[in-house]
Amino acid sequence: MGHQDRVQESIVDTQTITKRYTKFSKAARCRFCRDKMEPDYKNADFLSKLCSTQGKILPRKRTGNCARHQRACSLEIKRARYIVMMPYIATGLI
Ligand SMILES: [Zn+2]
Repeated sequence: MGHQDRVQESIVDTQTITKRYTKFSKAARCRFCRDKMEPDYKNADFLSKLCSTQGKILPRKRTGNCARHQRACSLEIKRARYIVMMPYIATGLI
């Protein structure tokens, strides 16, 4: 009986695992790939979504971007910072 229970448990485990991994497989996780657009330094409102409240660029883990678009985003955010459309650091912290 004990063995039967363990088999049942392992079946449940594999089901939950496959469920977890197939969750994001249908649509592209990267918003730029999905919407077929490229990041632009002139669109500072949109780029601010990819930054923290402190003005730091969020990592790929948080934004869900692919490597190519994350690289492009960080470049465009730095361009937007240079022409003062985005902050290097949020005000009121110092
Ligand atoms: Zn992408």
